[in-house]
Amino acid sequence: MNVAVIGNGAIGLCCAYELYRRYPSLQISLFGSNQNKYGASLAAGAMINVASEIDCFNCSHKLTAWKMSNRKEVLNLWRELEQSFLDKKVINKNIIDGGGTEVVIDNDSSNEVELNSFKSMKKCLQLYGYKIQSFSDQKNSSLLINDEKSVDAELFIQSLIRYLGEHIKIYNIDIESIKKNSKFWELTDYSGATKHFTHVVIACGAWSEGLIKRSNLRNKPNIKSFFGVGSALLTYSELPYVQEPKIDKIIRTPNRGGTCGIHSVQRSNGLYIGASSLITDVEIQSPRMSSIESILEGARKTIGINTYQLSFSILTGYRPVTLDAVPIIGELDENLFCLYGTKRDGFTWAPYYAKHLVNQIFGEINSNWQEMLNLSSPFRTLISAGDFEKCVESYVLNKKYEAFQHGFELTNNEIDNLREIAIKAHKRISQDLSFGLQPELINMIAYSN
Ligand SMILES: Cc1cc2nc3c(=O)[nH]c(=O)nc-3n(C[C@H](O)[C@H](O)[C@H](O)COP(=O)(O)OP(=O)(O)OC[C@H]3O[C@@H](n4cnc5c(N)ncnc54)[C@H](O)[C@@H]3O)c2cc1C
Repeated sequence: MNVAVIGNGAIGLCCAYELYRRYPSLQISLFGSNQNKYGASLAAGAMINVASEIDCFNCSHKLTAWKMSNRKEVLNLWRELEQSFLDKKVINKNIIDGGGTEVVIDNDSSNEVELNSFKSMKKCLQLYGYKIQSFSDQKNSSLLINDEKSVDAELFIQSLIRYLGEHIKIYNIDIESIKKNSKFWELTDYSGATKHFTHVVIACGAWSEGLIKRSNLRNKPNIKSFFGVGSALLTYSELPYVQEPKIDKIIRTPNRGGTCGIHSVQRSNGLYIGASSLITDVEIQSPRMSSIESILEGARKTIGINTYQLSFSILTGYRPVTLDAVPIIGELDENLFCLYGTKRDGFTWAPYYAKHLVNQIFGEINSNWQEMLNLSSPFRTLISAGDFEKCVESYVLNKKYEAFQHGFELTNNEIDNLREIAIKAHKRISQDLSFGLQPELINMIAYSN
């Protein structure tokens, strides 16, 4: 038996680490060029957020129910991973940082999406019996979720690559295609070299679909995926007399649907402030100016940072996003596994997915993982985001506050046009309007050929 993991982001690395940790004598190979500037994991805030990710769009979705039921396990796995990293000297310090996640809203906010999301999060947490602290003063209301902390994404990725480089075979090159060659899976890299494996895991994030399309495979996933382009800022001071902002916990707004919420996370080399979101099938190279403006405004207003004289660098990455915003996880063919489409919380779930995928490779599937496999099967039909009319209205609301955030107010005519766009997109998916689309994906579908 020999296993190839294709993709060197958080998910591929966690899979390779889990394989090595449990089966040190197994032949494991990890593929991925280190020239790619747009991997999601390096751009991620790496908030280990489950409850803090609930919003008014996903609160009653099956995937949210699954995540809430598995929340305890994923948080435990992070603690186990931290201990394992210390024992094996992957990193010589704790990887989990901060005092939890504070979700904040401005009481006077006219952003209905944000207010609804805050209420949904609170309600959902009560429903699942989680004890959280809530605070309110004249200006803000907030929820403190103590056990949802963060990881320094860059430190995590670089340390894991360094450690794995000493124990398994790492190829600094991308795979061009996969095909079945008698009993083996044959991988061809971009230099034309081929290698054979009994088991293969496709974990190249937003590029996974491209690899599958280029490959000669008898099965392909039913669900399309896109690039969820996200940008964030890493702020720091380069001047001795300018004090760097520091925070001791994650401070964030709830998700805002189309426009991702504002969040700030302390990293060892600066304060991370994210993030924008644009779903597209174009490999965009640079962030939109309005995205950077919104993040800067969020940094000042929501996080309360004095940005004057601070320096910043821009991090851009492609979140892997599927047409129904549910990941694609499962066995595409015998011993060929897919693990992508994790959208905005793939970092959080990386150790969980890695543990259970490795179990699956070795023939063990527990009921929780089976439930996930049923939900996220590559052969599933699209999973509805809910009632069609509600999805149309959520899209309109989203757009209204997206415009508002950028200083515009939509006219009634413009709102009617948006409603038409949303209906058109829904009709493209199901003529009888029996299917609800994620608001974030509506433009993508309405304007695709
Ligand atoms: C701005 C931003 C903020 C985010 N914040 C959070 C957060 O706070 N918490 C959270 O949980 N998640 C967050 N996410 C989402 C999270 O980053 C992703 O869900 C997760 O990192 C996906 O991991 P991945 O390994 O599948 O993909 P990636 O990290 O994109 O890794 C895929 C890798 O595969 C490589 N590759 C591509 N093609 C090939 C090929 N043909 N052969 C071999 N290798 C290939 C790429 O170079 C890349 O390194 C955020 C994402 C963004 C963009």
